[in-house]
Amino acid sequence: MIPREAVARLVEQTRPTLRAIERFLLPNACVACSRNIERETPDGLICSACRWRMKPLLGGCARCGQPEPPVGGCRVCAPWPEALRWARSAVWLGPETREVVHRLKYDGFSTLACLAADVITRNVSRPVTPDGAVLIPIPLTPDRLRRRGYNQADRIAQALGERWRTPVARHVLLRHRDAPSQTRLMAGARGSNVAGAFLALSPPAGRAPAIIIVDDVFTTGATISAAAVALSDAGWPGISAVTFARALPVEARLA
Ligand SMILES: [Zn+2]
Ligand SMILES: [Zn+2]
Repeated sequence: MIPREAVARLVEQTRPTLRAIERFLLPNACVACSRNIERETPDGLICSACRWRMKPLLGGCARCGQPEPPVGGCRVCAPWPEALRWARSAVWLGPETREVVHRLKYDGFSTLACLAADVITRNVSRPVTPDGAVLIPIPLTPDRLRRRGYNQADRIAQALGERWRTPVARHVLLRHRDAPSQTRLMAGARGSNVAGAFLALSPPAGRAPAIIIVDDVFTTGATISAAAVALSDAGWPGISAVTFARALPVEARLA
């Protein structure tokens, strides 16, 4: 039996070589726009023009990071459950980001999870968690996981955990029901659609670490809210969330 640490060390040592092989085998084209990519780009995945077009969320609401309307308070996080204290997203879901998410989700480009984690690390400060923290990726249903072979949120959490030096907890949150079509549902219908989709295990006795939920895209916050409610009901104290991308506000999408 090979010790677990030795396997982990071996994986770590061979990673740069595997990356080099992957870069050699992959077409020298930007995953977002398919144009030729400059050799000197940091990861060889996204051209500098697309990288520049991925716009970070700047300022905004203290709780959710969304730009606040000129009058009245933030409407994005107002309906959120109290359990979800804080949420941030790294970049807006523009055309380039959408393409990255699509490739990450359906084409198995796991190195894109590293890119997503790099972008998160650059644009989002890790929340302060005096009692420690664990990253919890939004799970897929077992059926969907079997069909897709991997969970993109898990890949992002793994890469982000290495950068934030925060462990990933994979078996705390379970998903037993899928939203039929997250992308086609109207925002109002989505909340009730995902409510009750998650089950969470209770924290160990004593002081529980804070939870940072990780997902690829934040659309209305309904999925993250439902996960936060399940975790809070199970007894986890501090819950926040971070996503790679955030859907543009409706006004920006219509403009
Ligand atoms: Zn490009
Ligand atoms: Zn807000």
